[in-house]
Amino acid sequence: MRAMVLDRARTPLALRERPDPVPGAGEILVAVSACGVCRTDLHVVDGELAHPKLPLVPGHEIVGRVAKLGAGVSGFALGERVGVPWLGGTCGVCPYCRSGRENLCDKPVFTGYTRDGGFATHTVADARFCFALPEADEDAGLAPWLCAGLIGWRSYRMAGEGEALGLYGFGAAAHILAQVAKWKGRRIYAFTRKGDEAAQGFARALGAVWAGGSDETPPEPLDAALIFAPVGALVPAALKAVKKGGRVVCGGIHMSDIPSFPYALLWEERGIQSVANLTRQDAREFLAIAPKAGIKAEVTRYPLERANEALADLRDGRLQGAAVLIP
Ligand SMILES: [Zn+2]
Ligand SMILES: [Zn+2]
Repeated sequence: MRAMVLDRARTPLALRERPDPVPGAGEILVAVSACGVCRTDLHVVDGELAHPKLPLVPGHEIVGRVAKLGAGVSGFALGERVGVPWLGGTCGVCPYCRSGRENLCDKPVFTGYTRDGGFATHTVADARFCFALPEADEDAGLAPWLCAGLIGWRSYRMAGEGEALGLYGFGAAAHILAQVAKWKGRRIYAFTRKGDEAAQGFARALGAVWAGGSDETPPEPLDAALIFAPVGALVPAALKAVKKGGRVVCGGIHMSDIPSFPYALLWEERGIQSVANLTRQDAREFLAIAPKAGIKAEVTRYPLERANEALADLRDGRLQGAAVLIP
């Protein structure tokens, strides 16, 4: 197999030949056909997330075909299309696992972080955390569903039922969620970097009723705001934009420090909430509703060997939609 490998944080990934991995008991070998590039991959490569497995094959938005079944695997057939998400395994016995909150497991395994992921031609995954994928799109189009979609969906649910929804940072997750929210009849307000006309036009094309800079005040107060950009200063900005009782949901795994702000911004039962990881139930829900909502991810394809270029384009805000590596 070929893989793009991170040896040390803050160094480019290197292309390596490796022996094909062998699936252990309960695992499947997946021949990767597409792997999305998520902002979390960037945080790992840039050394913003502590203690990754090293050397590491990043990537946790994996679409591929089942190439081998380990002992005791049921529910998957050879050749079946399968998706591998960020949540790669849980302990099953901690208080979080036993109370329907496996996203908070005390001993989790994360694809492309604590086990090798999908920036490769092949990967091995725990079958219990893999998903059959609907026939809604081709492989590259489905890849961003596996994290931007699933964790985006968890963030969306945390935002509650209000109709006016703000999206801060109009990247991979927001462009999928805007489609879900529009399908649900909600009004989307998209906030981008100041003066980013291209992203604002993209948001309007996907159904946003308004798009502007993150320093602007939306034309109506919001019921909730979702923040996907890793910028702590957006938290007080979003609190200012939500109405009484409104929620600000932070969907990313890493953010720069949140500047201090007056208590008045939080007063009147406004709330701030982070979203960590996903549960398999989140995945089942999203994979069921996404085809009904007609979700189409906008993707830019890169050959696997150009993973560093894809990461740089994401880092520098040059992408519209999601980057996807094709081995
Ligand atoms: Zn657990
Ligand atoms: Zn991700």
